[in-house]
Order: sequence, then structure tokens, then C-alpha cells
Amino acid sequence: MSTDKVLDLVIAGAGPAGMAAGIYAGRGGLDALLLDMMGGGGQVNIIDRVENYPGVMDLETGADLAEVMRKQTESFGVGVKFEQIKKVEADGDLLAVTGAKTYRTKKLLVATGARHRPMKVPGEGKLMGRGVSVCATCDGPFFKGKHVAVVGGGDSAIMEAVYLSRIVERVTIIHRRDRLRAEKLLQDRIFAAGNVDFCWDTVVQEVVGDEAVTALKLKNLKSDEVSDLEVAAVFVFIGLVPNTEFLEGLVELDESGFIKTDSRMRTSRANVFAAGDVRSDSVRQIGVAVGEAITAAVTIQEELDSQTPPRKHLKSE
Ligand code: NAP
Repeated sequence: MSTDKVLDLVIAGAGPAGMAAGIYAGRGGLDALLLDMMGGGGQVNIIDRVENYPGVMDLETGADLAEVMRKQTESFGVGVKFEQIKKVEADGDLLAVTGAKTYRTKKLLVATGARHRPMKVPGEGKLMGRGVSVCATCDGPFFKGKHVAVVGGGDSAIMEAVYLSRIVERVTIIHRRDRLRAEKLLQDRIFAAGNVDFCWDTVVQEVVGDEAVTALKLKNLKSDEVSDLEVAAVFVFIGLVPNTEFLEGLVELDESGFIKTDSRMRTSRANVFAAGDVRSDSVRQIGVAVGEAITAAVTIQEELDSQTPPRKHLKSE
């Protein structure tokens, strides 16, 4: 079913980038709609504490920050619809964005973020949610007093390992190299934890278990030695995969599938913009996602203003 109404802007994804663009679009008087397959918040929802986004020292969790952003977006008249976008097509000068309905819009901002990359080893898919996890704050408390593994050496892996070290008995970090990629502050914290050990130069070959995870089969990449590690859970943080499948040839992507843009967040296709973790070369921080989305929203507003007569602006401006 298609709506006759033409929107100024559809924002795909209601994480920090999408909501920041929603705030600017709503405040600028645009007829904008936010669509999100999870109902909003994005990856921030599953962060234990957000320490490095300015102005939020007193917020307890990432989910609290997402909630404040959602309320602020809605206060400017831009609602978040719980809808998964399946495809985007050209419709004359407009774009047709299809989720549960088809929305016709002048501009599209893709802010769909990225999801955690799977290891693609036997047992991982079967035991997902039964000891295999990509969210320490969601699943860590189930493993109080147990031995768990974390795979990866980046910011996500070490941040989540620090959180887990406070609630489980022991954490083993499995990393394919002999040094961490994570920022220094996180490295200092993990090396200071008394219950964390490291399997360097090692990858997971198999997640073992029938009903739940019982062990991992590991391989040392230097010695080729294969060993078993008994654990109750494995938390996997080996990078991100962009959520761009629904775009299907619409815009140019980099070799990893992230969307290429110019410095004003314009993609290779007119009227389609991208911001946040889904964007190629993004630094992947909440503050950066917000900044990129604001750049996109301002550019969108400028382009619309140059194409149409002035719109009615909010009284507060
Ligand atoms: P990342 O920085 O890409 O790190 C991925 C880690 O997984 C790396 O240590 C990498 O090893 C390892 N890895 C990649 N592919 C692998 C494979 N097939 N098998 C085994 N290990 C593999 O990903 P991330 O930690 O999810 O972070 C994503 C982005 O978000 C980064 O830009 C990060 O800075 C940002 N982030 C920031 C914060 C924060 O501000 N505190 C928190 C979380 C994430 P190598 O080191 O050998 O490449």
C-alpha cells in the first residue's frame, strides 16, 4: 500500500544518528518520518555506561540516553515507527521507501548503523542466545559466578569484558593477535582486573554444546596447537557489518559494504544521504554519529529550501 502524501524526509534507523537528524528536521519544520526495525535506540540500547558523550554524566545506562533522545525527537513532532525497510526505489524525482507501507519522500537519510559480525564457526548460530551472545549487559548477569570468554581485541570487546569481569568469576579474552586494538583507557582497565586472562594469537574454531555452550575449540595461529576451553558463555565482538542490504545497488558502497559519502553526507545518488556507523570511514562514536547526522540534516534542509518556497517554521525560531 502506498501513501499519496509526499514527505520531505524519511530517516532510516532511529539510533543516535537517526534521532539527531529527526530533532533537526522536526525543529526545522520538515515533514519527516523515522523508521526503525527495532523501535529505536540502536546499539546504544545495549551499552552498559556511556562515559564519553558530552553532557550525560548522570545517566545510568545507554538505554537511558536513547530514551532521552527519543523524547527530544518526539517533542519536535517526529515520531519513530516500528517498521523494517525492505527496499528503496526511484519514483520519478522522489524516492519510494517500502516497509509495511510505501512512503514517497523527497529525501532519504540512511542511519541504519551496523550489527556485530559473526565468527561463522560451527555451533555459533545454533547456540546463539544459549551461551553465545553479542551483548554483555543483556546476557552477562545469567553467568554470575561462571567462567566466560570474550572474542576480539577492539573497543567493544574490551569494554564488554570490563563489564563482565565485575559480575562473572573469570573472563578469558581470545584475540587473534598479540596486542589489543582497544583505546588505552580500556586496556588499562582490563589489565588491572584481577580475574581476566588472555589467549593471544588465538581464534575460535568451534562453539561446543548441545543445549547450551560448554566449551570452545581454540586454535593458536602461531603454533597451530588446538585446545579446548571450558566456558559457560562466549561473547563475540569481532567488528561490525553494515545494515545496508535493503539499498540493493541504490548507492555506492565501499568494499566492506559501508556507504560512501562526501563531507556533507551525500551519497552517490541524489537525495540519498548517510550518517553514523553505516557510513564508510565513520569513526563510530555516538558523538560522531550525531554530528554526521546533523551535517546531513542541515544539508537536506538547505537543498529543500533551494528547491521549494519557504516552509512554515516553528514559533520558537
Ligand atoms: P573493531 O574496532 O573493528 O575491532 C574488531 C576486533 O575483532 C579487532 O581486535 C580484530 O582484530 C578482531 N577481529 C576482526 N575480525 C576477526 C575475525 N574474523 N576473527 C577474530 N577476530 C577478529 O570493532 P569494535 O570493537 O566492534 O568497534 C567498532 C567501532 O566502534 C570502532 O571504531 C570502535 O572504536 C568503536 N567503538 C567505540 C567505543 C567507545 O568509544 N568506547 C566502544 C565500542 C566501539 P585485529 O585487532 O587483529 O584487527
